[in-house]
Amino acid sequence: SMASPALLMRVVASAYSVAEKAATIVRNVMSAGDLGIVEKAGPNDLQTKADRLVQMSICASLARKFPKVTIIGEEELPTDGVTEDLIEDGHCEEILKKPCPAQYTGIKEEELVIWVDPLDGTKEYTEGLLDHVTVLIGIAYGGKAIAGVINQPYYNYEAGANAVLGRTIWGVLGLGAFGFELTEAPAGKHIVVTTRSHSSALVNECIKALNPDTVIRVGGAGNKIIQLIEGKASAYVFASPGCKKWDTCAPEAILHAVGGKITDIRGNSFQYNKEVKHMNSAGVLATLRNYDYYASRIPNTVKESLVP
Ligand code: AMP
Ligand code: MG
Ligand code: MG
Repeated sequence: SMASPALLMRVVASAYSVAEKAATIVRNVMSAGDLGIVEKAGPNDLQTKADRLVQMSICASLARKFPKVTIIGEEELPTDGVTEDLIEDGHCEEILKKPCPAQYTGIKEEELVIWVDPLDGTKEYTEGLLDHVTVLIGIAYGGKAIAGVINQPYYNYEAGANAVLGRTIWGVLGLGAFGFELTEAPAGKHIVVTTRSHSSALVNECIKALNPDTVIRVGGAGNKIIQLIEGKASAYVFASPGCKKWDTCAPEAILHAVGGKITDIRGNSFQYNKEVKHMNSAGVLATLRNYDYYASRIPNTVKESLVP
């Protein structure tokens, strides 16, 4: 039969192309050289022209195709008057060919919430740490992150002129995740990945209590989940508020699609319904494997310092 693909798969297929357009915008703004940096809450909470253009591009493109879906983006910008050159109306055919997991075939537009981080790792983007940057489009249903797209615009940028620049990782719960090679972290080693630009005494106290062999400090929530699924790190640990729902939704869907786990530092799962508070006030703990090992070693004093 030629039944039309389920809504969820059409949203993911469109989000894939929208994220690729976003990546082009991210690279173009950087090569044009005028980042137009604005401080939001302070010097560690930045917005660039790329954050603004990509937010408009993603939100307007998806809203045009799926008008009844709730779309929540990081940047507070008007959604009307977005110029046509920012609109992407394509989709990824390969995604449409995959079967929608049975539990999601009946989803209606008004039941979906899309969480958009147009540019994750803005601080690092302004500092030239370009492969820390990702574009995040997370799709939630019933309060759960069920699908996501992570585009890494500068993947391979230090791998030489022959390497393909940029990549798109996507996943759906119950179907799997694609666009990368799932790799286990070295067995028996505890490699913790955490923030490089939003540290605090509590962030460091928590990591110290885990007694890791190695600590990797990189920007971006999307980038840190990539470190987990590609075996570079065994746990993402961030004992601080600061990370928001648009930072964790797409990464959560992809991590869960490959059998990983993400919660706050106290072990509570994240909710992604449209009414939810944006801030992940009680931090982040994520692993591909051995979640319980790390969760059981977080000190109670650290947990009690973070109020959900
Ligand atoms: P990081 O690991 O520092 O790159 O943070 C992951 C995500 O959470 C990024 O989108 C950051 O902008 C955001 N974030 C974390 N901590 C803070 C903070 N203290 N202020 C503003 N944004 C933060
Ligand atoms: Mg972010
Ligand atoms: Mg952002």
